[in-house]
Amino acid sequence: MKKKPRVFEEYPLWIVLVINAVTILAYGIGAYLLFLLGAVWGILYIAYLLFLEFRLYRESCVSCYYYGKLCAFGKGKIAARFFEVGDPNKFFEKELSPSDMIPQFLALIFPMAAGIILLFRTFSWEIFVLMLLPPAIWFLGNPIIYGKLACPHCKQGRICCPANDFFSKMQSRKKK
Ligand code: SF4
Repeated sequence: MKKKPRVFEEYPLWIVLVINAVTILAYGIGAYLLFLLGAVWGILYIAYLLFLEFRLYRESCVSCYYYGKLCAFGKGKIAARFFEVGDPNKFFEKELSPSDMIPQFLALIFPMAAGIILLFRTFSWEIFVLMLLPPAIWFLGNPIIYGKLACPHCKQGRICCPANDFFSKMQSRKKK
């Protein structure tokens, strides 16, 4: 019988650092491309990322089991610094649908759009590669981040997690 992965009361720091390094790399490249397009676009992109973070803290992290603790992303600790604790029942009230993924995808699409415009202005292999890196990091990194480092060890996931349920449903549909 397959052994169940260990559940972390608080995640080891190396997991938090690896996950954040990958995330910062992907979004950092995205921001760089938008700044190449123009400072205003770069600032707007960073504002958009901050808005997504703010929404996540306010809607999910405050109600998560890891509020005040070191979750896989380090957000539980940050949430407790800036936001009041929420209702744990709220965490699993919402059911995720593919449309909920759109804001996250836009954070990848904006840098690609910036890259395409920059390539039309002057073709450069550097821009071409940079433009493909954020989606590549996202699609290759997420199965490791969520599939190996975060979700299998997550206490909130064992209680209930709409994101986990959503991705498990997608996986089982792919297998059919
Ligand atoms: S199960 Fe995964 S997606 Fe859900 S709260 Fe835990 S780490 Fe986050």
